[in-house]
Amino acid sequence: MASQDDLFKKISSHCKEYGFIFQSSEIYDGLAATYDYGPYGILLKNNIKAYWWKSMVQMNENIVGLDAAIFMHPTTWKASGHVDAFNDPMLDNKDSKKRYRADVLIEDYMAKIEAKIDKEIKKAQKRFGDAFNEAEFRATNPRVLANAEKMDKIAKRLATAMTDGNMDDLKSQIEEYEIACPVSGSRNWTEVRQFNLMFSTQLGAVAGEEGKLYLRPETAQGIFVNFLNVQKTSRQKLPFGIAQIGKAFRNEIVARQFIFRMREFEQMEMQFFIKPGTQMEWYEHWKAYRLNWHKALGHNEEDLRFHDHDNLAHYADAAVDIQYNFPFGFKELEGIHSRTDFDLSSHQEHSGKKLQYFDPETKESYVPYVLETSIGVDRMFLATMSHAYTEEMVPDSKGGERERVVLRIHPALAPIKCCVMPLKKNDENLTGKAKEIFNSLRIHFDCQYDDTGSIGKLYARQDCIGTPYCITVDFDTLEDDTVTIRERDSLKQERISINKIAEIVKERTDMTQLFV
Ligand code: ATP
Repeated sequence: MASQDDLFKKISSHCKEYGFIFQSSEIYDGLAATYDYGPYGILLKNNIKAYWWKSMVQMNENIVGLDAAIFMHPTTWKASGHVDAFNDPMLDNKDSKKRYRADVLIEDYMAKIEAKIDKEIKKAQKRFGDAFNEAEFRATNPRVLANAEKMDKIAKRLATAMTDGNMDDLKSQIEEYEIACPVSGSRNWTEVRQFNLMFSTQLGAVAGEEGKLYLRPETAQGIFVNFLNVQKTSRQKLPFGIAQIGKAFRNEIVARQFIFRMREFEQMEMQFFIKPGTQMEWYEHWKAYRLNWHKALGHNEEDLRFHDHDNLAHYADAAVDIQYNFPFGFKELEGIHSRTDFDLSSHQEHSGKKLQYFDPETKESYVPYVLETSIGVDRMFLATMSHAYTEEMVPDSKGGERERVVLRIHPALAPIKCCVMPLKKNDENLTGKAKEIFNSLRIHFDCQYDDTGSIGKLYARQDCIGTPYCITVDFDTLEDDTVTIRERDSLKQERISINKIAEIVKERTDMTQLFV
């Protein structure tokens, strides 16, 4: 069985072995923090995007879609604050020559203190058994209290240094906490410097600064600059939202966690335009709505949590992350931000064009406030894989047990919904019938035909790519037009008639079940 420590490595190698994700440009030894999605990866990714789109656009009559260009007028990024403030504090370890984000080093240090608290709690839990009261223990145990106080102090000091852009204090903190480089083990650090995360390129014939273009670091700004175009043409009244899925690019300093932190990635963002003063109401609404979206996929409740931002970005008056318990701990999966009127006002100022809404009820014009939900497709993919990857013991055909790897991906997201296989590969009657069934099913959903091994091998392969249903064609099928349908998680087998397969698989794998 996989321990938490090597689970992450197992997931990334499984992704490669089974055609979900490849390192970009692998034959040239790869390009750091850039990945390509393989045949099963693209299907899963498309299903994640479809689930998000259905939930946000199709199920909300006041949310419409947009697909804005990646390149935008350079002033966009001045107005959004990205040219001046989209920085991460970085420093290098002089011995290992590795580069780190100062805030991440301090956060990792806090995670170690949190781990000490967790250890203390687990120990006490064991000791007291059912009588254990965690809340009381946290409130009274001196060691837990001291560590919690220590964490709180560090978090507050980090937040202040980040908000003030105080690089000297970040360096002092790293020195005071005696944080060492995980690679060299030394504390031989450079100064902390601001590092802008935007990639730039050059526009065709225009030379120098004038022709400088950025690859968008978020999709949101394409929505803001189109606010009036969309509002007028879709005849929406406030509150209403604009949703977009698209690529974003960030020159991340530290990008060592597979698809968790990439330099080219995809975002699913929705900007919800509201009347000023109503933002807290909508903030709560979208927090609950988005958490439910995750929960509907069957994630363990304790693997999802809200985490309030300690330091707010320049544009926000409230912000929270939905964190997921990845194999390397709780990390941001999605952000929900109350962005005030910062973006629209700033674009209005920089462009000289009015970005206001005329409220037909109050007969007033104003710049709307914005509530944003923003999630990375790739991070969602990693959360899905982390939840799905399972090693377990199951009964074998000889009355014993065997270990299997199975991806318990929610059937609605599974890349392949069902696989049709003949019991014997060399019997033309069986293969012919199985192919005929496969051809009748492929119009309904993504399915496969496979006759390249024994049934046991074929089942194992489908388990590894998360296929919820396998259909076996045997000699009885030729007599009575029935097949065996095997369910991935329970391993239950049922005999059903051929003309029921499409209906049954569709019903059990359809996305609509995520909305009931
Ligand atoms: P982090 O603190 O992890 O750098 P962030 O707060 O900068 O993330 P946002 O700007 O709020 O992230 O972006 C919204 C979402 O986009 C994130 O919740 C995450 O899912 C995704 N995302 C951001 N950066 C990356 C990246 N480098 N690779 C993959 N996904 C990303």
